[in-house]
Amino acid sequence: MEKSYENIVVGAGFAGLVCSGYLARGGQKTLLLEKGPVIGGRAAAHSFNGYNVVMHLPLVMTTLNNGGGYGWANAAKDFGANIRYHTSREPRLYFKGSKKAFITIPKCLTTDAATNWMIEFLDAARPDLVKDGLYKELFPMVDEILTKDFKQMCEEWDEISVKEWVEARSSNPSIKYLFTSLWAGCVWTGDAEFTWERGSMGKGSVMFRIWIGGQGLMSVAIPDVHKGICEPIANAITNNFGCEIRTSQDVSEVLIENGKTTGVAIKREGKPDEIIKANRVILATTWLDYLNLFKTMPDSVAQTLRMPLNQKMGGVFLITGLNDSITLDGAFFMAYDPQTGSSIQGGCAQNIEQPWNVPAGKQLVWSYSIRTEKDFNRLGLDGIVAEMNENFEEIYPGFKKAIEFQTPPKGAVHPSHYEFSSLPKIRQKSPDVEGLYFCGEATWPMYGQITDGTSSTGANVAKMILGVNSL
Ligand SMILES: Cc1cc2nc3c(=O)[nH]c(=O)nc-3n(C[C@H](O)[C@H](O)[C@H](O)COP(=O)(O)OP(=O)(O)OC[C@H]3O[C@@H](n4cnc5c(N)ncnc54)[C@H](O)[C@@H]3O)c2cc1C
Repeated sequence: MEKSYENIVVGAGFAGLVCSGYLARGGQKTLLLEKGPVIGGRAAAHSFNGYNVVMHLPLVMTTLNNGGGYGWANAAKDFGANIRYHTSREPRLYFKGSKKAFITIPKCLTTDAATNWMIEFLDAARPDLVKDGLYKELFPMVDEILTKDFKQMCEEWDEISVKEWVEARSSNPSIKYLFTSLWAGCVWTGDAEFTWERGSMGKGSVMFRIWIGGQGLMSVAIPDVHKGICEPIANAITNNFGCEIRTSQDVSEVLIENGKTTGVAIKREGKPDEIIKANRVILATTWLDYLNLFKTMPDSVAQTLRMPLNQKMGGVFLITGLNDSITLDGAFFMAYDPQTGSSIQGGCAQNIEQPWNVPAGKQLVWSYSIRTEKDFNRLGLDGIVAEMNENFEEIYPGFKKAIEFQTPPKGAVHPSHYEFSSLPKIRQKSPDVEGLYFCGEATWPMYGQITDGTSSTGANVAKMILGVNSL
């Protein structure tokens, strides 16, 4: 007999796992389908030069208790998944060319502490901009960010630019510098000018609350980032709630009849597609995957896809293997250019944060740089990598001599991570197809371009379907 489900969730990244877990826990017959051979999506591990590396997840930020979201850490706890965490030390900021030591990003539990820390940042980056009266003007702005209801802040400010938000409250150039430069790092635009004009105030504020406002932790799972998070979650939702998970299932179409989803079709090598029926289909894939999944694109999605992409930026992500002739600090750092206010590089040494990946006497360094299209055209990928190595050399003299290997530069004018988090957002409950839902980074509302945020969108969709206010 043909099997049918209440829900089919497509895509087993963080969003799909969390969504299907809560649905199955709510007693609904749920099938999770993943195209790849393993679960985890963009958090999957790859082997490189004998190391098991997760290119993009040395750090996972979690709003464990007070963030108002339902990140993967909350979900893992709710599902009874067996995960141990290693909490990273406080991240640090470095000001390129200033020869200044790092300043740390502490947990600022009060508005007073956060305001003072922002002034300390300005004093390290641009002391000429620190003027009398700054604290008094800045305090109410910081207070608004730290005390506004978290979910409301994510939703209301998501489409408001940093410029609109700041100009409605202040015309002080010091405050403009502060918000553009700090937010350039927080929203991964890298470029202060772009951040001012188009960076999302919502995303910047979310990251500010997570990083600085004491509402998040930076942690990684022990002993392995991929197996340490995604596999235990998958095992828990299967064993504890009966969620069915299948890998190597390439969904080719979401089936829609008379304005309602009826299931999905799955590609079969040399055979006709397999049809699986369901009352609801939840797409937890990335934005670009939607293009292949519909015979006729739902109107609301088509409209969003037609909206222009206003930014052209890219990211370069590197894994570098080092010998132990120098010792790097394992805390996550970001490097700033004090003149432009742009954040030009981030990274950390994984030997300290993730020692299980690295043989004795070796160090593994993870780093990224988000750059404008202008930079890509001027320097090319290799030129950006050379600059990244120079920056490391400035921070850790001896770095270049200690390099044993480096991944080929990964990056493009629109890298997936940044592209997906900047494109116009798709509604989580389709307004034009009954039983069709979307979760993941491409959806709105979202809590930022991180695993915690994308997991929250999965939980949010589960809440809508189960008709509950909290999980
Ligand atoms: C370079 C980079 C750096 C990052 N750094 C960090 C960081 O430091 N900290 C942090 O918290 N986050 C970071 N992120 C973000 C984080 O990786 C993502 O937010 C998260 O992994 C996205 O999860 P997701 O479930 O939304 O999507 P994905 O993980 O992309 O999952 C989507 C899944 O859908 C599947 N799929 C697609 N099409 C189909 C189909 N037709 N049929 C079946 N399955 C399908 C895919 O195979 C995939 O497994 C980074 C991301 C990148 C790329």
